[in-house]
Order: sequence, then structure tokens, then C-alpha cells
Amino acid sequence: MLRIQRFRLLIRRPATATSPLQAIASGPAEAAHSGIREVVNLALVTPGCIRLEVGEPNFPTPAHIVDAAVEFARKGQVKYTATAGLLSLRERIAAKLDKVNGIKAGINNINCSVGGVGGIAGAIAALVEPGEEVLVPDPAWPNYRLMLAWAHGVLVPYACPPEDKFLPDPQEIERRITSRTKMMIINSPCNPTGAVFPRDLLNRLVDVAVRHNLYLLSDECYDEVTLDGEHTSPASFCTDGRVISAFTFSKTYAMTGWRVGYVVANDKISDSITKVLESNSSCLPTICQKAAEAALDGPREPLREMVKAYRERRDLCVGLLEEAGMLISRPQGAFYIMADISRSGMDSREFAFDLVSSKKVAVAPGTAFGESARKAVRISLASSPEDLSVGIARMIERIEELS
Ligand code: PMP
Repeated sequence: MLRIQRFRLLIRRPATATSPLQAIASGPAEAAHSGIREVVNLALVTPGCIRLEVGEPNFPTPAHIVDAAVEFARKGQVKYTATAGLLSLRERIAAKLDKVNGIKAGINNINCSVGGVGGIAGAIAALVEPGEEVLVPDPAWPNYRLMLAWAHGVLVPYACPPEDKFLPDPQEIERRITSRTKMMIINSPCNPTGAVFPRDLLNRLVDVAVRHNLYLLSDECYDEVTLDGEHTSPASFCTDGRVISAFTFSKTYAMTGWRVGYVVANDKISDSITKVLESNSSCLPTICQKAAEAALDGPREPLREMVKAYRERRDLCVGLLEEAGMLISRPQGAFYIMADISRSGMDSREFAFDLVSSKKVAVAPGTAFGESARKAVRISLASSPEDLSVGIARMIERIEELS
């Protein structure tokens, strides 16, 4: 039997204790929400800086989505909805999950959330008890660490090393499992590495989760941003209820600021997540839910165009970095590429600061994502090809000056 935590209304810790999240909030910037933000702050006060550090589509939200939201707002029926989201939206999401991801889900298995971040945090809060261990990829999107701090969970990193194309070794993961391990988080297509987990790797990871009775939290926020690889959802073949899958409209439809995501889980976990979401957001803005419906009803052309542009930019950057001997691996999904900066002799945080000051180029330091990316930086393909060409050329120039 999987252990499902009952939603706790009482916090049993003494009022005087500093929680892990409080410690982060009041601690130094480096430990805070993300080492990317530090570089963003510096880039913002550096006139003319080329911004390759932010992971946000540089495309506008497609017009038919904006129009649907405006029209709905004008009608004035903007009221609270069910916490889990409008029925009409969840019905559409269920159809999308079936068609795109091969996941069979009913409306009770879906919770709409404040972006993918809200759904992932909701699942962690619903399932992870204080002191329980959660396996998290290294490198990884920095927010998992914060979410676990909030839940008083213990982060146990597992390596997705550059030398293995940023893919994990299931045996290595297995060695990290203890009696306190509750959950394994996976993220494919991956931010920051662009790795897409092949089907056989996912099979092996699911096998580990089954044998050790773990939940598998599958962050699939880039599910439709695949450049070469084919995305597989573990919940399409592991149907015993241990997989929780998180998605978002942010990336697929260039809707980052609309803040609509969703998380899919078995009936019982979904019910727990709804209670968590009720405590912190009540429901998503109704206008944004209507915009999400329009996204699912509308043409797929804008998505195809964006993915085509990311693919062209990926090819451009692969060529430039390969020539400079700085390519680590060819990203297969999401919109990021990692560059090896070891020849600079600096660690990536120091290098990222140096690059803004010396060449007016901002990149995300690998240190923001984990120990194994200490000698790498992340470049966002959500930037224009012109900025990518000039920014990478300046970065190569700087490495040559330093080496
Ligand atoms: N997962 C990953 C790996 C991400 O990179 C992001 C956003 N950067 C999210 C989840 C959440 O996205 P959002 O909340 O904008 O939907």
C-alpha cells in the first residue's frame, strides 16, 4: 500500500523553530530562490546587456487566446470556480492528456494550479511528511529545493551527469534509497539540460519506484516542446496510481504570465492536492482558465512555429559551441542548452557575474541547478537568434581571454 498523507490542519512544530523555508528566505542571496535571479538582478542594471539567462518564451501569447479571455472578461461573469478548476477546462485537459500523453484521467484526477509550479508544490505538500526523503535530479530546476523546504522534506540529489548526456543511472538512484524515501522527482524534457528521457530509461525508473514503493512525481512542463526526442509520460504505462504528472500552459502556449498549470494524480491524491490548493489559492483566475480553454480548442500552428524556432536556435547554438569545444550535449527538448565553461578556470557563478561585467552577456550559472553543473552555464533558446549568436561569440571570447 502506498502511504498517503492525510491533509494536516495542525502544524506540530514549536512556534520558535526556524523552518527550512524561513532559513532560505532570510539567508544569503546565493541560497535563495534561485541563483538565476542574482544574475537577472545584475543584468537589469547593466545597460545593453544581452539576456540569455531567462527561461521564458520570447513569443507573444497567440491572439485567439488573448481574445477569448478579453471577451469572457467583458461578459462580466468572472466568479470563483471550483478549486480544482472549471469543469469545462478539466474536460478539455482530460482529452488532451489522452491524445497527447496517452494518460487516461477523469476530471477528478485533475487539479488546475497556479502554473506548473503550483501543481508540483501542491503534490509535494500533500504527500511529503517532515523528515521524509525525496530523490531530486542534479542538475534540476531550483524550485524543487524550495518546495521541499516548505514541506520540511529532505532533498536527496541523484546525478544526471554531463558525461552521460545528463541522463541518470537507475542503479545509482537505487543506492540512495532508504526507509525514509517517499518520492522520486523526474523532469523530462529537462530544464536546465534539454535531456529527454528515453522510454527504456523511464521503464527502469518506474521499476525502481515500484520495487521501493515510491511515488514518482513526473514534471512534464515541457511535454510539447520536443526538438528531436519523443516525450513519454510515465503515467501512460504505469497505471497503479503512484505517478503524479505535472503540466503547464506556460511553455506550450507562451502563457507564462497567465499562470495556468495542472497536476494529474489518482483520486485520493488528487483530493489531497485540492485541499492544499484550497488553502493557498482557492481557485485560479477565471479569465485565465478561459484563456487555457481557448488554447486547447485553438489551432496547433503557433506551437509548431515556436518549436520550429527553438529547433533552429538549438542547431545554431550547437554549431557555435561545438566549434569552440564547449558543447556538452545536443538538447532534445525544452528550450535550453548547457555550455562547458571549465576552461575559464572559474566556477559557473563567478563566471556568470564576470560575463555580465566584462561582456554584457547574462547566462544562468550551473550552480543554480546543482553541484554537477558547477562548470557549466545554461543558455536559454527562448532568446532571439541574433542575441544568441552575439552572446555566445562574446562568451567564447571571454573564455579565451581567461584560459
Ligand atoms: N517545471 C520546470 C522544470 C520549469 O522549468 C518550470 C518553469 N520554469 C516549471 C515547472 C513551472 O512553470 P510554470 O509555473 O510557469 O507553469
